[in-house]
Amino acid sequence: MLARNPLILLIYTGGTIGMIENPITGALENFNFDQLMEHIPELKKFNYRISSYQFDPPIDSSDMEPAFWAKLVRIINYNYEHFDGFVILHGTDTMSYTASALSFMLENLGKPVILTGSQLPIGMLRTDGKENLITAIEIAAAKNAEGIPMVPEVCIFFENHLMRGNRTTKINAENFNAFRSFNFPPLAEAGIHIKYEPHLIRRPDPDKPMKPHYLFDHNVVILTLFPGIREEIIHSLLQVPGLKAVVLKTYGSGNAPRKEWLLRELKEATERGIIIVNITQCSSGAVEMERYETGIQLLQAGVISGYDSTPECAVTKLMFLLGHGLSQAEIRRKMNSDLAGEITKNP
Ligand code: ASP
Repeated sequence: MLARNPLILLIYTGGTIGMIENPITGALENFNFDQLMEHIPELKKFNYRISSYQFDPPIDSSDMEPAFWAKLVRIINYNYEHFDGFVILHGTDTMSYTASALSFMLENLGKPVILTGSQLPIGMLRTDGKENLITAIEIAAAKNAEGIPMVPEVCIFFENHLMRGNRTTKINAENFNAFRSFNFPPLAEAGIHIKYEPHLIRRPDPDKPMKPHYLFDHNVVILTLFPGIREEIIHSLLQVPGLKAVVLKTYGSGNAPRKEWLLRELKEATERGIIIVNITQCSSGAVEMERYETGIQLLQAGVISGYDSTPECAVTKLMFLLGHGLSQAEIRRKMNSDLAGEITKNP
Protein backbone atom coordinates (compact mmCIF):
# COMPACT_ATOMS: atom_id res chain seq x y z
CA MET A 1 0.00 0.00 0.00
CA LEU A 2 1.34 3.48 -0.88
CA ALA A 3 1.92 5.79 2.08
CA ARG A 4 -0.41 8.77 1.83
CA ASN A 5 0.81 12.34 2.25
CA PRO A 6 0.89 13.45 5.89
CA LEU A 7 -2.09 15.45 7.05
CA ILE A 8 -1.40 18.27 9.51
CA LEU A 9 -3.87 20.37 11.46
CA LEU A 10 -2.65 23.92 12.03
CA ILE A 11 -4.44 25.61 14.92
CA TYR A 12 -4.03 29.37 15.16
CA THR A 13 -4.85 30.72 18.62
CA GLY A 14 -3.37 34.21 18.15
CA GLY A 15 -0.13 35.99 19.00
CA THR A 16 2.52 37.86 17.08
CA ILE A 17 3.24 35.09 14.59
CA GLY A 18 -0.17 35.46 12.98
CA MET A 19 0.03 39.18 12.43
CA ILE A 20 0.43 40.80 9.07
CA GLU A 21 1.01 44.47 8.36
CA ASN A 22 -1.92 46.05 6.60
CA PRO A 23 -0.29 47.53 3.48
CA ILE A 24 -2.60 50.57 3.59
CA THR A 25 -2.79 51.47 7.29
CA GLY A 26 0.50 49.90 8.44
CA ALA A 27 -1.32 48.42 11.46
CA LEU A 28 -0.74 44.83 12.54
CA GLU A 29 -3.75 42.62 11.89
CA ASN A 30 -4.46 38.95 12.43
CA PHE A 31 -4.11 36.83 9.31
CA ASN A 32 -6.43 34.21 7.93
CA PHE A 33 -5.24 30.91 6.52
CA ASP A 34 -5.22 32.07 2.88
CA GLN A 35 -3.06 35.05 3.77
CA LEU A 36 -0.70 32.72 5.57
CA MET A 37 -0.31 30.63 2.41
CA GLU A 38 0.36 33.83 0.46
CA HIS A 39 3.09 34.93 2.88
CA ILE A 40 4.71 31.53 3.14
CA PRO A 41 4.58 30.08 -0.38
CA GLU A 42 7.16 27.54 0.83
CA LEU A 43 4.27 25.70 2.53
CA LYS A 44 3.00 24.66 -0.90
CA LYS A 45 6.30 22.89 -1.55
CA PHE A 46 5.61 20.38 1.19
CA ASN A 47 3.81 17.29 0.07
CA TYR A 48 1.72 17.58 3.22
CA ARG A 49 -1.93 18.44 3.29
CA ILE A 50 -2.49 21.23 5.78
CA SER A 51 -5.88 22.06 7.23
CA SER A 52 -6.45 24.90 9.61
CA TYR A 53 -8.57 25.92 12.55
CA GLN A 54 -8.59 29.50 13.71
CA PHE A 55 -9.65 30.89 17.09
CA ASP A 56 -12.27 33.54 16.46
CA PRO A 57 -11.34 36.08 17.65
CA PRO A 58 -7.64 35.22 17.95
CA ILE A 59 -6.28 35.95 21.43
CA ASP A 60 -3.13 37.55 22.71
CA SER A 61 -1.67 34.78 24.84
CA SER A 62 -1.78 37.06 27.89
CA ASP A 63 -5.51 36.29 27.82
CA MET A 64 -4.95 32.53 27.84
CA GLU A 65 -7.19 30.63 30.28
CA PRO A 66 -7.81 26.99 31.22
CA ALA A 67 -11.03 27.17 29.16
CA PHE A 68 -8.92 27.72 26.03
CA TRP A 69 -6.72 24.75 26.93
CA ALA A 70 -9.87 22.65 27.11
CA LYS A 71 -10.90 24.03 23.72
CA LEU A 72 -7.53 23.01 22.24
CA VAL A 73 -7.90 19.51 23.68
CA ARG A 74 -11.41 19.27 22.24
CA ILE A 75 -10.12 20.25 18.79
CA ILE A 76 -7.23 17.77 18.97
CA ASN A 77 -9.39 14.96 20.31
CA TYR A 78 -12.09 15.52 17.66
CA ASN A 79 -9.49 15.42 14.86
CA TYR A 80 -7.08 12.95 16.45
CA GLU A 81 -7.70 9.95 14.18
CA HIS A 82 -7.71 11.96 10.94
CA PHE A 83 -4.46 13.88 11.32
CA ASP A 84 -0.82 12.81 11.59
CA GLY A 85 0.21 15.77 13.70
CA PHE A 86 -0.88 19.10 15.13
CA VAL A 87 0.83 22.49 15.07
CA ILE A 88 -0.45 25.18 17.42
CA LEU A 89 0.41 28.80 16.66
CA HIS A 90 0.42 30.62 19.98
CA GLY A 91 1.65 33.89 21.48
CA THR A 92 4.98 33.44 23.19
CA ASP A 93 4.06 35.07 26.51
CA THR A 94 2.18 32.10 27.96
CA MET A 95 3.18 29.38 25.53
CA SER A 96 5.04 27.41 28.22
CA TYR A 97 1.92 27.33 30.43
CA THR A 98 -0.20 26.03 27.56
CA ALA A 99 2.40 23.43 26.58
CA SER A 100 2.65 22.25 30.21
CA ALA A 101 -1.12 22.05 30.61
CA LEU A 102 -1.59 20.14 27.34
CA SER A 103 1.10 17.63 28.31
CA PHE A 104 -1.11 16.54 31.23
CA MET A 105 -4.44 16.88 29.40
CA LEU A 106 -3.44 14.66 26.46
CA GLU A 107 -2.66 11.47 28.36
CA ASN A 108 -0.86 8.74 26.42
CA LEU A 109 -0.41 11.03 23.43
CA GLY A 110 0.65 9.16 20.31
CA LYS A 111 0.95 12.05 17.85
CA PRO A 112 3.05 15.24 17.75
CA VAL A 113 1.53 18.43 19.14
CA ILE A 114 4.03 21.19 18.35
CA LEU A 115 3.55 24.73 19.62
CA THR A 116 5.34 27.58 17.96
CA GLY A 117 5.15 31.33 17.52
CA SER A 118 7.49 34.16 16.76
CA GLN A 119 8.96 37.38 18.04
CA LEU A 120 8.31 39.23 14.75
CA PRO A 121 5.04 38.97 12.77
CA ILE A 122 5.02 36.60 9.83
CA GLY A 123 4.47 39.43 7.37
CA MET A 124 7.69 41.22 8.32
CA LEU A 125 10.84 40.83 6.29
CA ARG A 126 13.07 39.57 9.08
CA THR A 127 10.41 37.42 10.71
CA ASP A 128 11.44 34.36 12.68
CA GLY A 129 7.92 33.04 12.20
CA LYS A 130 8.52 31.46 8.80
CA GLU A 131 11.37 29.20 9.92
CA ASN A 132 9.59 28.33 13.13
CA LEU A 133 6.37 27.42 11.37
CA ILE A 134 7.91 25.50 8.47
CA THR A 135 10.10 23.39 10.75
CA ALA A 136 7.29 22.84 13.28
CA ILE A 137 5.14 21.44 10.46
CA GLU A 138 7.97 19.21 9.28
CA ILE A 139 8.43 17.85 12.82
CA ALA A 140 4.69 17.30 13.26
CA ALA A 141 4.71 15.21 10.06
CA ALA A 142 7.94 13.29 10.73
CA LYS A 143 7.73 9.51 11.07
CA ASN A 144 10.35 6.83 11.51
CA ALA A 145 10.95 3.91 9.14
CA GLU A 146 8.07 1.96 10.75
CA GLY A 147 5.69 4.84 10.11
CA ILE A 148 5.56 5.84 13.79
CA PRO A 149 5.62 9.58 14.67
CA MET A 150 9.11 10.74 15.61
CA VAL A 151 7.92 12.96 18.46
CA PRO A 152 4.59 11.92 20.01
CA GLU A 153 4.82 14.64 22.64
CA VAL A 154 3.62 18.17 23.37
CA CYS A 155 6.62 20.30 22.40
CA ILE A 156 7.67 23.85 21.73
CA PHE A 157 9.73 24.45 18.61
CA PHE A 158 11.52 27.77 18.63
CA GLU A 159 14.70 29.08 17.02
CA ASN A 160 16.05 25.68 15.92
CA HIS A 161 15.28 23.82 19.14
CA LEU A 162 12.56 21.30 19.77
CA MET A 163 11.91 21.21 23.52
CA ARG A 164 9.59 19.14 25.70
CA GLY A 165 6.81 21.67 26.33
CA ASN A 166 6.49 21.14 30.08
CA ARG A 167 10.22 21.84 30.53
CA THR A 168 10.23 25.24 28.85
CA THR A 169 10.31 28.82 30.08
CA LYS A 170 10.19 32.05 28.11
CA ILE A 171 13.54 33.71 28.83
CA ASN A 172 13.77 36.59 26.41
CA ALA A 173 11.33 39.30 25.38
CA GLU A 174 13.48 40.48 22.48
CA ASN A 175 15.74 37.86 20.98
CA PHE A 176 14.59 35.22 18.55
CA ASN A 177 15.94 32.66 20.95
CA ALA A 178 13.01 33.16 23.35
CA PHE A 179 12.63 29.78 25.08
CA ARG A 180 14.89 27.56 27.06
CA SER A 181 14.58 24.10 28.58
CA PHE A 182 17.10 24.40 31.40
CA ASN A 183 16.64 21.03 33.03
CA PHE A 184 16.14 18.74 30.05
CA PRO A 185 18.05 18.54 26.76
CA PRO A 186 16.34 19.44 23.47
CA LEU A 187 14.46 16.59 21.78
CA ALA A 188 15.76 17.71 18.40
CA GLU A 189 17.86 20.42 16.79
CA ALA A 190 17.20 21.85 13.38
CA GLY A 191 20.24 22.65 11.27
CA ILE A 192 20.84 21.40 7.76
CA HIS A 193 18.98 18.32 8.96
CA ILE A 194 16.59 17.92 11.86
CA LYS A 195 18.56 15.82 14.31
CA TYR A 196 16.25 13.94 16.65
CA GLU A 197 17.28 12.42 19.98
CA PRO A 198 15.07 9.30 20.04
CA HIS A 199 16.41 8.13 23.43
CA LEU A 200 15.00 11.31 25.04
CA ILE A 201 11.59 11.15 23.40
CA ARG A 202 8.64 9.67 25.29
CA ARG A 203 6.57 6.87 23.75
CA PRO A 204 2.91 6.15 24.48
CA ASP A 205 1.58 2.79 25.60
CA PRO A 206 0.57 1.31 22.21
CA ASP A 207 -2.18 -0.76 23.81
CA LYS A 208 -4.02 2.24 25.22
CA PRO A 209 -5.79 5.09 23.43
CA MET A 210 -5.01 8.78 23.94
CA LYS A 211 -7.12 9.96 26.86
CA PRO A 212 -8.23 13.61 26.81
CA HIS A 213 -8.78 15.54 30.05
CA TYR A 214 -10.53 18.87 30.42
CA LEU A 215 -10.82 19.85 34.08
CA PHE A 216 -8.86 22.44 36.04
CA ASP A 217 -9.18 24.07 39.44
CA HIS A 218 -7.36 27.38 39.62
CA ASN A 219 -7.42 27.90 43.39
CA VAL A 220 -3.64 28.08 43.39
CA VAL A 221 -0.95 30.69 43.73
CA ILE A 222 2.76 31.11 43.02
CA LEU A 223 4.61 32.69 45.96
CA THR A 224 8.18 33.92 45.52
CA LEU A 225 10.26 34.37 48.69
CA PHE A 226 12.59 37.34 49.02
CA PRO A 227 14.64 38.75 51.89
CA GLY A 228 12.31 40.90 53.97
CA ILE A 229 9.01 39.26 52.96
CA ARG A 230 6.40 40.15 55.59
CA GLU A 231 4.65 37.73 57.89
CA GLU A 232 1.28 39.51 57.52
CA ILE A 233 1.38 39.13 53.74
CA ILE A 234 2.13 35.40 53.84
CA HIS A 235 -0.45 34.94 56.59
CA SER A 236 -3.18 36.70 54.56
CA LEU A 237 -2.30 34.87 51.40
CA LEU A 238 -2.51 31.46 53.05
CA GLN A 239 -5.91 32.40 54.52
CA VAL A 240 -7.53 33.25 51.16
CA PRO A 241 -10.85 31.35 51.11
CA GLY A 242 -10.74 28.40 48.74
CA LEU A 243 -6.95 28.36 48.36
CA LYS A 244 -5.89 24.76 47.70
CA ALA A 245 -2.26 24.83 46.62
CA VAL A 246 0.83 27.02 46.62
CA VAL A 247 3.91 26.85 44.40
CA LEU A 248 6.59 28.19 46.75
CA LYS A 249 9.62 29.57 44.92
CA THR A 250 12.47 29.21 47.39
CA TYR A 251 16.19 29.95 47.23
CA GLY A 252 18.85 27.72 45.68
CA SER A 253 18.27 24.04 46.30
CA GLY A 254 14.98 24.66 48.11
CA ASN A 255 15.87 26.84 51.08
CA ALA A 256 13.75 29.32 53.04
CA PRO A 257 14.54 31.68 55.94
CA ARG A 258 14.66 30.02 59.35
CA LYS A 259 11.87 32.15 60.77
CA GLU A 260 9.60 30.56 63.34
CA TRP A 261 6.52 32.37 61.97
CA LEU A 262 7.17 31.20 58.39
CA LEU A 263 7.39 27.54 59.35
CA ARG A 264 4.32 27.89 61.57
CA GLU A 265 2.29 29.48 58.73
CA LEU A 266 3.37 26.79 56.27
CA LYS A 267 2.72 23.96 58.73
CA GLU A 268 -0.73 25.26 59.65
CA ALA A 269 -1.56 25.65 55.97
CA THR A 270 -0.53 22.07 55.14
CA GLU A 271 -2.54 20.86 58.13
CA ARG A 272 -5.59 22.69 56.73
CA GLY A 273 -5.10 20.66 53.52
CA ILE A 274 -3.27 23.23 51.39
CA ILE A 275 -0.63 21.56 49.23
CA ILE A 276 2.66 23.48 49.19
CA VAL A 277 5.16 22.57 46.49
CA ASN A 278 8.76 23.75 46.74
CA ILE A 279 10.55 24.76 43.54
CA THR A 280 13.71 26.80 43.15
CA GLN A 281 13.92 30.41 42.01
CA CYS A 282 17.02 29.42 40.00
CA SER A 283 16.38 28.85 36.31
CA SER A 284 18.38 25.65 36.37
CA GLY A 285 18.72 22.81 38.88
CA ALA A 286 16.48 21.07 41.37
CA VAL A 287 15.17 21.31 44.90
CA GLU A 288 16.91 19.03 47.41
CA MET A 289 15.26 19.74 50.73
CA GLU A 290 17.44 17.27 52.63
CA ARG A 291 20.60 19.20 51.78
CA TYR A 292 20.48 22.10 54.25
CA GLU A 293 18.80 22.69 57.58
CA THR A 294 16.84 25.52 55.89
CA GLY A 295 15.30 22.95 53.53
CA ILE A 296 14.72 20.17 56.08
CA GLN A 297 12.54 22.47 58.16
CA LEU A 298 10.26 22.91 55.14
CA LEU A 299 9.93 19.15 54.80
CA GLN A 300 8.98 19.02 58.46
CA ALA A 301 6.31 21.65 57.83
CA GLY A 302 4.71 19.32 55.24
CA VAL A 303 6.04 21.08 52.12
CA ILE A 304 6.65 18.70 49.20
CA SER A 305 9.41 18.81 46.63
CA GLY A 306 8.73 20.05 43.12
CA TYR A 307 12.12 18.63 42.05
CA ASP A 308 13.39 20.46 38.94
CA SER A 309 9.96 21.60 37.76
CA THR A 310 9.49 24.95 36.06
CA PRO A 311 6.98 27.30 37.74
CA GLU A 312 4.76 27.09 34.64
CA CYS A 313 4.65 23.33 34.92
CA ALA A 314 4.23 23.13 38.71
CA VAL A 315 1.25 25.47 38.69
CA THR A 316 -0.53 23.84 35.72
CA LYS A 317 0.09 20.36 37.14
CA LEU A 318 -1.48 21.40 40.45
CA MET A 319 -4.47 22.97 38.68
CA PHE A 320 -4.90 19.82 36.62
CA LEU A 321 -4.71 17.42 39.59
CA LEU A 322 -6.98 19.60 41.75
CA GLY A 323 -9.46 19.81 38.88
CA HIS A 324 -9.83 16.06 38.90
CA GLY A 325 -11.06 16.00 42.49
CA LEU A 326 -8.27 13.77 43.81
CA SER A 327 -7.62 13.45 47.53
CA GLN A 328 -4.85 15.50 49.09
CA ALA A 329 -2.75 12.34 49.56
CA GLU A 330 -3.23 11.37 45.92
CA ILE A 331 -2.27 14.86 44.70
CA ARG A 332 0.84 14.85 46.88
CA ARG A 333 1.73 11.43 45.46
CA LYS A 334 1.21 12.55 41.86
CA MET A 335 3.17 15.76 42.41
CA ASN A 336 6.01 13.46 43.40
CA SER A 337 5.58 11.34 40.25
CA ASP A 338 6.71 12.02 36.74
CA LEU A 339 3.46 12.05 34.72
CA ALA A 340 4.58 13.51 31.39
CA GLY A 341 8.36 13.86 31.57
CA GLU A 342 8.03 17.07 33.57
CA ILE A 343 10.42 16.28 36.46
CA THR A 344 13.69 14.43 36.91
CA LYS A 345 13.38 12.33 40.03
CA ASN A 346 16.86 10.79 40.08
CA PRO A 347 19.23 13.13 38.30
N1 ASP B 1 1.82 39.28 23.51
C1 ASP B 1 2.04 38.29 22.48
C2 ASP B 1 1.38 37.00 22.92
O1 ASP B 1 1.89 36.30 23.74
C3 ASP B 1 3.50 38.12 22.23
C4 ASP B 1 3.84 37.06 21.24
O2 ASP B 1 3.04 36.54 20.50
O3 ASP B 1 5.02 36.72 21.17
O4 ASP B 1 0.31 36.71 22.43
